[in-house]
Amino acid sequence: MVQLTTRDYIAKEDKFGAHNYHPIPVVLSKGEGVFVWDVEGKRYFDFLAAYSAVNQGHCHPKIVKALTEQAETLALTSRAFYNNTLGDWEEYMTQLFGYDKMLPMNSGAEADETALKLIRKWAYKVKGIPENEAKIVVCDGNFHGRTITIISMSSDPDAYSHYGPYTPGFVNIPYNDLQRLEDELKDSNVAGFLVEPIQAEAGVYVPEDGYLKKAAELCKKHNVLFVADEVQTGLARTGKMLACDHENVRPDILVLGKALSGGMYPVSCVLADDEIMLTIKPGEHGSTYGGNPIAGRVAMAALDVIQEEKLAENSLRLGEIFRNEMKAIPSEMIEIVRGKGLLNAVAIKPVNGKTAWDVCVALKENGLLAKPTHEHIIRFTPPLVITEEQLMEAIEIIKQTFKEMGI
Ligand SMILES: *Cc1c(COP(=O)(O)O)cnc(C)c1O
Repeated sequence: MVQLTTRDYIAKEDKFGAHNYHPIPVVLSKGEGVFVWDVEGKRYFDFLAAYSAVNQGHCHPKIVKALTEQAETLALTSRAFYNNTLGDWEEYMTQLFGYDKMLPMNSGAEADETALKLIRKWAYKVKGIPENEAKIVVCDGNFHGRTITIISMSSDPDAYSHYGPYTPGFVNIPYNDLQRLEDELKDSNVAGFLVEPIQAEAGVYVPEDGYLKKAAELCKKHNVLFVADEVQTGLARTGKMLACDHENVRPDILVLGKALSGGMYPVSCVLADDEIMLTIKPGEHGSTYGGNPIAGRVAMAALDVIQEEKLAENSLRLGEIFRNEMKAIPSEMIEIVRGKGLLNAVAIKPVNGKTAWDVCVALKENGLLAKPTHEHIIRFTPPLVITEEQLMEAIEIIKQTFKEMGI
């Protein structure tokens, strides 16, 4: 057998795979903690962490153990039957996050779809909105996944172009705009407000302090559900278990995914109280893999790790250091540094034809992986198990890279 190289693997994907991604040209074959290795054996700091799915670090032994043990015992039953892990997982989740009930799904998009369905059921069965007239308020710049309904809410042409006709029933308002929110909430057909506590995909847009708190209060006042998509901001990424915790906000519906499995398996869920969750009756929603025994064991292990290893505290402390160090880099290209905890972004001003993409390729050459979002923004989101020493080493790579670029 000939050993394939980076070039060969990329050529193979290019030839046989759909072209719906544009990856940084590196082919990974191994991961451990904050590091990944390419097929030539070169080691990198992973500063994307699979879009914050790998908060617990690559191949965390406790999560691997949960996965492999359960895989050897019972992997999938479907929800046609009960299994002896789902109840444990539901109890764990509802106690940890303080809700009456959990509904398990697999991807973040499915969990957001579930939240949208819950808002609509609640609109008709509880709030009393006339059938088919419920509206859901969402924010420009949102990212909630890739289904037709979800991209119907998107303001990004890359996400929605040529996928119409779109799902109706959404009202888009600017992010971080309480006045517009209040104006829309006066419409009695509005049932829910779906929001990301920080818009991560859009480029790590952090709203003003107090935005979430005030938005939740306005929703309460107008009998509208406040729904937080914490698929990316949740589970210690921003320095608290949930980004909403920074403002002591308790969403009516909470959506989780990504790091819920520590990158081991697709696991997502929605949490809500009975008044909302029990509007969906048997047969009215579901998923073949949702709530499967592996997902449950993996999720509990992944959440144990976040708590046992105090990842939220680590994220809060090291995030501060990271932003200060980035702000101190004397490069013309660095326009803005922003973020919370270890969810951070650096906005890049193209200089001499060099863009954020070129910076990311140079970072890769120097042993650190990151990916631009929306052309000019680089997101830096390492696994939260990173130590201060490792962070300083990574910061050195970033400094050195900007220095080499000479601008
Ligand atoms: C990634 C993401 C999703 C979609 O999750 P998938 O598992 O890719 O479907 C939804 N919402 C937010 C905020 C995300 O970051």
